[in-house]
Amino acid sequence: MISRFFSFFSLLAFGGALGFAWAVMGDKPLSMPYLMSGALLAGLLWMLVDAWRGYRVRSWLRQGDLGMAPEISGWWGVLIDRSRKLLRERERSIDASEQRLKDFLSAIQASPNGVVMLDSNAQIEWCNQTAAAQLGIHPERDVMQRIGNLLRDPVFTAYMAVEQPNEAVVMAGRKDRVDRPVRISIQRHRYGEGKQLLLTRDVTLLEQAEAMRRDFVANVSHEIRTPLTVLSGFVETLQTLDLNAEEQKRYLALMAIQADRMQGLVEDLLTLSRLEGSPTPSLQSTLPLAHLMQSCEQEAHGLSDTISHGAEPQHIEFQTDHLLGDAVLLGNERELQSAVSNLVSNAVRYTPAGGRILVSVGQGSDGSLMVEVRDTGAGIAAEHLPRLTERFYRVDRSRSRESGGTGLGLAIVKHVMQRHGASLSISSEVGQGSCFKLTFPATRWRLNP
Ligand code: ADP
Repeated sequence: MISRFFSFFSLLAFGGALGFAWAVMGDKPLSMPYLMSGALLAGLLWMLVDAWRGYRVRSWLRQGDLGMAPEISGWWGVLIDRSRKLLRERERSIDASEQRLKDFLSAIQASPNGVVMLDSNAQIEWCNQTAAAQLGIHPERDVMQRIGNLLRDPVFTAYMAVEQPNEAVVMAGRKDRVDRPVRISIQRHRYGEGKQLLLTRDVTLLEQAEAMRRDFVANVSHEIRTPLTVLSGFVETLQTLDLNAEEQKRYLALMAIQADRMQGLVEDLLTLSRLEGSPTPSLQSTLPLAHLMQSCEQEAHGLSDTISHGAEPQHIEFQTDHLLGDAVLLGNERELQSAVSNLVSNAVRYTPAGGRILVSVGQGSDGSLMVEVRDTGAGIAAEHLPRLTERFYRVDRSRSRESGGTGLGLAIVKHVMQRHGASLSISSEVGQGSCFKLTFPATRWRLNP
């Protein structure tokens, strides 16, 4: 500032001196007016230059482009430097804020949950892709649209009408279809001045798991209650009636059947829960194919004799490709044994007397190993096939129970196969018979050297 005054007064003095010199050189009688006029003109010139500089600085500030700063010395130059420094700092802080906002928005975008921000009029300010996909709104086109105009589900409308909702609401998602339901949970929170935040979450799997859990508990209770009721009926009979030894023996035998049924059910349930909770079977433990086939063959004949009650026995045959005599399956011995034996015992149980059962082992062209269990039983109608591996799903309930079935056998087989990276495929024709095929990938078996 001092330099500014200094330059101003120096110029005044210089102008005055020039005026004075002019008067002296021109022999003017009065030199004072010349001196004053010279100083005045110099002052005006200074102000003009100063105004011009000020004008350039103002234009630059208006533009706000740091790179276009005018090259001016003196006081205005200092002002430009200071302003440039300030602007640079401001720009840096704006850049940092913008980056933070970008990071924040990309984090919300990456979230598996949906986020919708509404203004005080319930108009969409911003939403992430997840919310857009779940609710069927467009993240750009629908900005500033009232959410109520876009989502017309009565459940949602009623939810938005509540002043302070405590709980989330669940409604059908945009991709909801009769054969493939999609359920979205929406939770509303208030924030800022009348603004609202909607958090959305796909709860389809959760709801399905909950429904499955309910069905499972109901099924287990039902399965246990039936033999338990029969058992307690027999106990009551034994307690109240005076039965002879022969009758008592008969009742006790019937009670043993029900107890066995319950025991079978509990064992299958425990097997399933063990399968769910244990890690993937290792490739280090092995089960020789020949052992597996042998024990299944013995089991099959034993079961066939038990259930045929002297009627014509079933024709049961086991065939193993001669190249696979030394093959071993890699995985959990107990699980693999239970999977194959479940299929074989089903074939025996669902094939009438005189029928044929063929268990064969062969190699696929892709290096897989296949275990096939074919029977000439009653067969299964096509509509049941996709559901056979569901827990407690039976085509013929009474037939399954009569033959000691728990309804969990194929669920166990499927689970064991999945854990070993193998697969179960079922083909069947009513009146012709069924074929259950286990396919083990090349990584799950080898020929013993
Ligand atoms: P279950 O203990 O009732 O046999 P599974 O899970 O082993 O339960 O089988 C489910 C249902 O699939 C059975 O109830 C039966 O209706 C049908 N099923 C299984 N294997 C055969 C087969 N070999 N032939 C005909 N139906 C079968």
